[in-house]
Amino acid sequence: MTELSYREPEPKIIAGVKGDWEIVIGMEVHAQVQAKSKLFSGASTQFGAEPNTNVSLVDAAMPGMLPVINAFCVEQAVRTGLGLKAAINLRSVFDRKNYFYPDLPQGYQISQYKHPVVGEGEVLVDMAPGVARKVRIERIHLEQDAGKSVHDMDPAMSFVDLNRTGCALMEIVSMPDIRGPEEAAEYVRKLRQIMRYLGTCDGNMQEGSLRADVNVSVRPKGSREFGTRCEIKNMNSMRFIQQAIDYEARRQIAILEDGGTVVQETRLYDPNRGETRSMRSKEEAHDYRYFPDPDLLPLEIEPALVERVRDSLPELPDEKKARLVTAYGITEYDAAVLVAERANADFFEAVAKGRDGKQAANWVINELFGRLNKEGHGIGESPVSAVQLGAILDLIGSGEISGKIAKDLFEIVYTEGGEPRAIVEARGMRQVTDTGAIEAAVDEVIAANPDKAEQAIAKPALAGWFVGQVMKATGGKANPQAVQALVKAKLGVE
Ligand code: ADP
Ligand code: MG
Repeated sequence: MTELSYREPEPKIIAGVKGDWEIVIGMEVHAQVQAKSKLFSGASTQFGAEPNTNVSLVDAAMPGMLPVINAFCVEQAVRTGLGLKAAINLRSVFDRKNYFYPDLPQGYQISQYKHPVVGEGEVLVDMAPGVARKVRIERIHLEQDAGKSVHDMDPAMSFVDLNRTGCALMEIVSMPDIRGPEEAAEYVRKLRQIMRYLGTCDGNMQEGSLRADVNVSVRPKGSREFGTRCEIKNMNSMRFIQQAIDYEARRQIAILEDGGTVVQETRLYDPNRGETRSMRSKEEAHDYRYFPDPDLLPLEIEPALVERVRDSLPELPDEKKARLVTAYGITEYDAAVLVAERANADFFEAVAKGRDGKQAANWVINELFGRLNKEGHGIGESPVSAVQLGAILDLIGSGEISGKIAKDLFEIVYTEGGEPRAIVEARGMRQVTDTGAIEAAVDEVIAANPDKAEQAIAKPALAGWFVGQVMKATGGKANPQAVQALVKAKLGVE
């Protein structure tokens, strides 16, 4: 397994009135487990279903119902743990976390407290080629999601939709290793990327499949101690995460520089006003009266299961990036773009195999992704297949078409489809390499412009004008190198 070397980025510094400050961030990311049914019931997890249609008697907390653990969700948590290079705890315990909320009919959430299923791991957060922050993972525990209260459908009433109640969540808790708003957003992006590779969470932030609680504190630059933190709840956009951290850090700095103290509390970010607001004072573990759920036995995982999952792990983004750099000679920057999604990297490799890797990366990233982005499409919707793009590169490689014609050809394949070589034949796009034909065109242009020819003989730099004219006369199909050589020869310049 290859690894790229990297150095850690500088922490983000905020200048206060009295000195420089550093931001310290730790995150609790809630990732919905990609699974067909819920953590303790067989009800569907389908997003966007009619309200209250995906609710079993267990989810509705009818008296006497018993939870039954969904083995697939456990396997997904193990898979996520292994993907984050974490220790798997073969024995973990489900606890009841007691609180009241209208969309929580049980009156408690089944979660894991002292004994989570996944222990310590780590994530490399890429900030630039060769620059990455290592963020340690403290734990991942499995827990139930709550339902949704709907407050904006009626002026006088609120509604409850229990479809999400009981869906499996993985709470991924980081150590306070993140040092700035951009790092925080990149951390979430990296987690999302890894889980999408693993197929354990779809990472859809609009649908709420990925939400983050962000813990923020500040300390004087260079200080080793941590300050008091505030937790900003339920962030579901990378942009808002950054804005909220920036606002919150400045708020805390202003308090501290004024001689005050930061009160540990839970806050909410209001994107319309661009500020965080106090929601409630910080709740402590004892407020929840945690105790082991008497309906559930401790969760014991067979070592063989862990090994089976480990063996089935795909190549993950960091390793894929390192391999693409060495195997295809592409830049780390290009490799990072290509591995953003597994399907993108697969497409690139299908094009690059047996061809010039740099050229393939250039065409896949700049031409294809560029074109797809314009229409808001992903690689899955690409009208150009890897075989078609590969055929275009082969036509360039053999000198049958110029790079410029190749772009026209790409556009034809993109909009109309078709086999590239057949299109080149049918539309006469083949590059003219026949020197006789090019020579005739050069002679014609020189004869028609005797004064320009004289100038070019006196000042050879002007010969380029003739090259341009000949290219125009041949509809861009003449081989540019051949034209250049012939123009120079005819004019007798170097
Ligand atoms: P609690 O049990 O109160 O939720 P944890 O110790 O589990 O607290 O920490 C919750 C999150 O807060 C973790 O992601 C952790 O990294 C982060 N965190 C802890 N201390 C700080 C701090 N001083 N500044 C920023 N984040 C912190
Ligand atoms: Mg915690």
